[in-house]
Amino acid sequence: MSTTITADKKVVEIHHYGSRHWVGDGFPVRNLIPGNTVGEQLSPFLLLDYAGPEKFDPTDSPRGVGEHPHRGFETVTIVYDGVVAHRDSTGNGGVIGPGDVQWMTAASGIVHEEMHEKEWAKKGGAFHAIQLWVNLPRSHKMSSPGYQTLLKADIPAVELGGGAGHLRVIAGEFRGVKGPAKTFTPIHLYDVRVKGGSMVEITVPSSFNAAVFVLQGEVSVNGSEPVKEAELARLDRNGERITIVAATDTIVLVLAGEPINEPVARYGPFVMNTKAELVQAVNDYQAGKMGHLS
Ligand code: MN
Repeated sequence: MSTTITADKKVVEIHHYGSRHWVGDGFPVRNLIPGNTVGEQLSPFLLLDYAGPEKFDPTDSPRGVGEHPHRGFETVTIVYDGVVAHRDSTGNGGVIGPGDVQWMTAASGIVHEEMHEKEWAKKGGAFHAIQLWVNLPRSHKMSSPGYQTLLKADIPAVELGGGAGHLRVIAGEFRGVKGPAKTFTPIHLYDVRVKGGSMVEITVPSSFNAAVFVLQGEVSVNGSEPVKEAELARLDRNGERITIVAATDTIVLVLAGEPINEPVARYGPFVMNTKAELVQAVNDYQAGKMGHLS
């Protein structure tokens, strides 16, 4: 007999960042996935790097991270403050600022650079962003690379009602409103702003892995202990409902997705299914098969 009762997804653990390091000279990050014990428990999400908030002085030499490869997954960059310029070996490129998202599909392989945008760097200012790595299923790891620029205006904001705040649907769906990102496996990705003393209730399928990451403020998730800035509440796969209660004005990122139940082999910027495929990725990169920046 099936049941229609909606159950809470329990918070399994509240994770603090595992390491703090610079990516190139432009991105001071705190790593949440796969830091500490999160490991592969959040498939399809492979990595969450939390950049900033950090104040940068004006400079004529933009900071960032130079030419490097990726294969086998997607990089998703969400900008809260600052401006990022990107270009890659397929000839794609773009500039994203506050509220914008870049969804880059590395798949069979790209080489790219990620820099502070030139004019922004000249003025300097606050920088605040997130980069996620989203795994691809075996059937798409060697697909052609792709690139989606999701501008702020393309990302619908759903008012939560009663002045509680709003939820921007980057990927997936919320209350019937669909996000613009095209994904290879089912994913919900939300940029959520909740006013202190207010709450939001989200429902995702019970088969999905899910987590709530706090960028600003403090929340309780399904009655958990407080989850504070730069902490990640990881939820149990069972259950459907995620209730976020904000103690103060908050910015949170909600990630939920159907797990990819395949072996994960990772080495630096490559994420494949087997060790042999990683060796092939290194060889292909060194042979120039992932291209070059022109
Ligand atoms: Mn990269």
